[in-house]
Amino acid sequence: MLQYLVILLDDTSVAYCHAENPLKERYLISLNTLKKAILFGMKENLMIQYVYPEYDLPKEYSELIESIDHIKIGHDIKVYNDVTLSSTAGTAILRTTVADFISKQYDIAAMLSQVTRLIICLKDAELFQDEQIEQYKKALSTLSAMVLNLRKSDYQSEVNILTDRLTLKEMHNCGAGDSNITLAPNGKFYLCPAFYYDEKMGISNRLNHHKPSSERSVGDLETGLQIPNPQLLKLDHAPLCRICDAYHCNRCIWLNQKLTWDNNTPSHQQCVLAHLERNAARTLQQQLRAVGLNAGEEIKEIDYLDPFDVREKF
Ligand code: SF4
Repeated sequence: MLQYLVILLDDTSVAYCHAENPLKERYLISLNTLKKAILFGMKENLMIQYVYPEYDLPKEYSELIESIDHIKIGHDIKVYNDVTLSSTAGTAILRTTVADFISKQYDIAAMLSQVTRLIICLKDAELFQDEQIEQYKKALSTLSAMVLNLRKSDYQSEVNILTDRLTLKEMHNCGAGDSNITLAPNGKFYLCPAFYYDEKMGISNRLNHHKPSSERSVGDLETGLQIPNPQLLKLDHAPLCRICDAYHCNRCIWLNQKLTWDNNTPSHQQCVLAHLERNAARTLQQQLRAVGLNAGEEIKEIDYLDPFDVREKF
């Protein structure tokens, strides 16, 4: 069920997930389009998430923006593209590369004491290689040790790739095109911002079997949402994900279509990363329990990192 409407206020709005925003020229959403988008959100009872550019918006936008409950990505939720030790935000997003996550693990761990929730997003997950598994495990254990210490001193530190799995009892993924939809400054809907960027960059839509095109929109504010085969974005149509218990995994459909040519079929990279995180959460859970702290329902031991490798067991 649709719950969130992400509104890109400008073409240069900050990237906040896996995909970079390659658009450099400002294209501010018109007041009229913004008004219609807010109305759509109200009618559909959606929580609005505005994504801000780095420049200040004209004054006349403020009143409209504040006319409905919302979250401001890029403002309330700060987005960092490099490790910073001066963050004072409640929730912050850190977009980093796999290599930087490994090499800057101690600095990233230090960030945990400065925020209540850190959301780590790997910008180049597709480049992850099995040879990096041990290094990634080590970096996760560095973060885990920090979480343990902070929780022992009663600071309820959260980091998505470790602590989310402790509390989740079922899949809680990104939900692009399913629980959330993105509206771009052009007044059209996209499954997520990355699909809009691909369209603007003229990247061929390999999933469009009718004609070569970079078209990615799934409706607009005039005609409404038109997602072709929406069931194909859902968990119950994802044979691997529906048997998986890496409940915190993003299940990034943009990464899926980029790497497997199918929105609902995950790549080896995404699965291995999510399972390394799941297993690190299991170790953290045991350590928290050992010192008498609450750590959620038991995470079972498993002997695989990619459900594809053991699909015949399910
Ligand atoms: S780890 Fe792989 S199978 Fe599991 S939810 Fe993530 S993408 Fe799907």
